[in-house]
Amino acid sequence: MNGFKQWMYNLRYKLSQFMIGRYGMDEFNKFLGFFAFILIVIGMFLRVPGLDLLILLIIIYMYFRVFSKNISKRSDENRRYLGLTYKLRNSLFNSKKRLDDMKTHHIYKCPTCKQKIRVPRGKGRIEISCPKCNTKFIKNS
Ligand SMILES: [Zn+2]
Repeated sequence: MNGFKQWMYNLRYKLSQFMIGRYGMDEFNKFLGFFAFILIVIGMFLRVPGLDLLILLIIIYMYFRVFSKNISKRSDENRRYLGLTYKLRNSLFNSKKRLDDMKTHHIYKCPTCKQKIRVPRGKGRIEISCPKCNTKFIKNS
């Protein structure tokens, strides 16, 4: 083995020894890295006071988590992060579904009882009868 390969091998070995019992990467750390990256990009275009410090703190926090030996606490944080983004992802998914639905359906309100009625679009003039109070009204769908 030549010198450089030996050196790389030793480095990798030392690193793996160093990482024994340490937490390492997770989804929350990936998010922190991504967030820091976004802030760095913003910092290239905008002068935001304290932004450099914030970026530094986020990166320090990320490395602190990577090298942390308190694995159960770190995975709790990760679980909490995943729980929060699950709600966010879900609401993004639902609003996309609602947008798709708006292309094919229209929501009308009953003039009498304000009941919302979902009607398919593109049927021309139609008579809608309210399922709640039986009021009939004409709409262009
Ligand atoms: Zn009604």
